[in-house]
Amino acid sequence: MKIKDALRKSHFLLGSLVEAEAILSHILSADKTYLYLHEDEEITEQNLEKIKEIVKRRRGGVPLSYVLKKASFMGLDFYVDERVFIPRKETELLVEEIIEFIKRSKKKRLSLLDVGTGSCCIPISVFYYTHRTKTIATDKSFSALEVARRNVEEYSLKDDISLVCGDLFSPLNKKFDIVISNPPYVSTDDYRKVSEEVKKEPIRALMAGKDGLDVIKVLIEEGRKLVLPDGILIFEIGYNQEEMVKSMYPCVVKKDYAGIPRYAIVKNE
Ligand code: GLN
Repeated sequence: MKIKDALRKSHFLLGSLVEAEAILSHILSADKTYLYLHEDEEITEQNLEKIKEIVKRRRGGVPLSYVLKKASFMGLDFYVDERVFIPRKETELLVEEIIEFIKRSKKKRLSLLDVGTGSCCIPISVFYYTHRTKTIATDKSFSALEVARRNVEEYSLKDDISLVCGDLFSPLNKKFDIVISNPPYVSTDDYRKVSEEVKKEPIRALMAGKDGLDVIKVLIEEGRKLVLPDGILIFEIGYNQEEMVKSMYPCVVKKDYAGIPRYAIVKNE
C-alpha cells in the first residue's frame, strides 16, 4: 500500500487526519511533510501491519499517546505508557511560570521538588530550558517512576534529577526553592463524568477524594513548609477549586488560555 492510501484509510477509520498523520509519521520515522512529498512510496508489509495494529488499538479507545508511547510537552518528546498520566498542554503554563521565576532568581542553581512526577515531564523540561535546577522528583507509584527513569536517562539527566518513591512529603527532610506539583484533583463525582479515554489513565493520578482536594490540602499544609525563603510553591488546581484553595491559604490563582482557573502560587516571602 502507498503512503497516500494508508493515510486516507487511517483517516477514514479514525475520523482524524491529524491522528492518521501522527501514526504514519511515527511508524515511518518521518515528519508530516515527508508523508506528502513521498505519498506514492510503498509502505513495507511489516510497517503496514504496525500501522494497522495501532489504528485498531486507537479505535478501541486507547489514548493516542499510549498507542504511540510518546507525548509532547514543552516542545519535547516524552516516553509514556499506561503507568503514567499523559502530560497536558495546560501544565505547560506552570512550567513557564517556573522558568520565569528561575530567570528572575539571583541563585545560580535552584533546588526543585516535583511531587507526583509521573513521566517526569515537568522537571525535565524545566531543566532543559534553564540548566539551573537540581531536582528531587517523587511519586508514590514505583511503576510510574520506572517511566520517569526512562525519560531521565533519555535526556541524560541522572545527575540533575533524583527519583524518589514515596507518598507526598514523607520521604523528604530538606527544603527547596521551588515545590511544584500537578496533583490529582478530580472529585469522585466529576470522575464519573470523564471520558472513557481519560479513564484509561491511572486513577491515582487523577482523582483525589470527594471534593478532589485531598492532595491539594496536604500540598498547602505541608508542602508550603518545605519552601525556602523567597521560594515558591506552585500547583495545578481544578476548574472549580479557586475559592476553596484561597480559603485554605492566601495564594494567587492564575487562569489558563480558556479563562479557567488553572494553578495556584504560594510565595514564601
Ligand atoms: N507531573 C506529571 C504531569 O504533569 C504527572 C501528574 C499526575 O500524575 N497527576 O504530567
